[in-house]
Formats: sequence, C-alpha cells, structure tokens
Amino acid sequence: MKIGIFALQGDVAEHIKAIEASGCTPVQVRNPQDLDNLSGLVLPGGESTTFWKLSNRIGLDKKIISLSKEGFPIFGTCAGLIMMSRDIEGYPNQPTWNIMDVTVRRNAYGRQLESHVETIHAKDIGDVSVAFIRAPFITRVGEKVEVLSCDKEGNIIFVRQGNFLGAAFHPEMTGDIKIHNFFCDIARRV
Ligand code: GLN
Repeated sequence: MKIGIFALQGDVAEHIKAIEASGCTPVQVRNPQDLDNLSGLVLPGGESTTFWKLSNRIGLDKKIISLSKEGFPIFGTCAGLIMMSRDIEGYPNQPTWNIMDVTVRRNAYGRQLESHVETIHAKDIGDVSVAFIRAPFITRVGEKVEVLSCDKEGNIIFVRQGNFLGAAFHPEMTGDIKIHNFFCDIARRV
C-alpha cells in the first residue's frame, strides 16, 4: 500500500521512515500527479504559510482538497494540522484547506524552537511518545470531530474526523510509530 508524503517543505524524511516501519511504501508528493494511486497522504510539520504558497502555485492544494471531499485518508501533523483546519485564531487571512471542522491556535505553546518530548495518551491507540515543536493546539471542534487526546491543561491536541487525523505534535520524531500504524489501518480499510 502506497502512502504519500507532502514533500514540498517540512520534516519529510522522518515521516518516510515511520511509514516504512508501518509496513507501507512512502511516496514523496511534489506535484498533483504524484497523488495518483495512493491510499493516503501525510502532511508533515513545517511552516503552514509556506505549505500554502508552494502548493497553491502548482495546483497541488486543489487536488488535495478535492481528494479529501471523496474521503481520501489524510493525516496532518503540526503545520499539516493547521493546513487541514477550517480556520486559524488570530490569522483570518491565512488560507487553509478546510478539510477538518476544527479551529487551531498557531504557536499555542510559545514560539520557542526548542522541542519537548512527552508521552501522551490517545484514545484507541494508547500511550505514545511524541514531540512538540512550535506546536498549535485545537480550540474548537465541530460535531463530527472526535477528540483522541488532550494535553495536561485540557487543550485538544489530537483529533479524528472519519478518515482524517490531525495532530498538534510530531509523532514521527521519536521512533514510536503507533500513530502511523493507526493511520495506515484507516487507509487499509477504505
Ligand atoms: N508553527 C508552525 C506553523 O504555524 C508549525 C510548526 C511545526 O509544524 N512544527 O506553521
């Protein structure tokens, strides 16, 4: 089973390793046609404004949005989650792909570049070691969105809406591949 990784910017290499470790074949997605014949797509962490600019220039964003409307499995981490959100608090003019019915707050834990690794508990998955890097969190979820994990303060950090997963953190940086396995299982069942 082939899983695409949005590869115009962001931490692509770590996701490639995690997808391989989950028993799937990673495919780097740089053009709209790279999305053909895939079973799912991972949107890595990076810089959400750059994701938008680079993908919009070549029409990759339009194809991702149209596939999402057909229920194509998509997993966004950090900046990837921001791109999947409906809107961003305090950034009314920053475009998103409006794939999940959530509102996010960018850099919600502060702007420090320093990462911190933490073990979170995710519903249906269990304890997972993940990294937070200039992470957002989710401040609103729509009716169809299931909350899979919150941080210690109760802020929402991991959600599912049908075949879509959105994580505020990076699960690809710690070698703990439970969340990638979970996503590959979603893609396998479609
Ligand atoms: N702060 C970044 C953004 O707003 C996301 C950071 C990340 O993906 N690690 O795009």
